[in-house]
Amino acid sequence: MSNKIFLSCEEANHTCDKTQYNDATLWEKIKLTLHLAYCVACRKYTKNNTKLTHLIKQKSVKLDIKEKTKMQSVLDKELAKQNNN
Ligand SMILES: [Zn+2]
Repeated sequence: MSNKIFLSCEEANHTCDKTQYNDATLWEKIKLTLHLAYCVACRKYTKNNTKLTHLIKQKSVKLDIKEKTKMQSVLDKELAKQNNN
């Protein structure tokens, strides 16, 4: 399993498919949500699946504070790396 936080579109679509069968981990769903935040193409792809959109909304709400803090620190680190390029 890949540790990087930014998914390629191919990976995002694969994760999208996995979530439909409840086969994706929470971390994979978080990464997918992040990808959708900046990738218009994949937003269009997932928009065709209302079930998934509903799932992401549900999970986002249910993220507890510990997960959010962890996610934020990882994201900050990755963004800092990107800015150094
Ligand atoms: Zn994408």
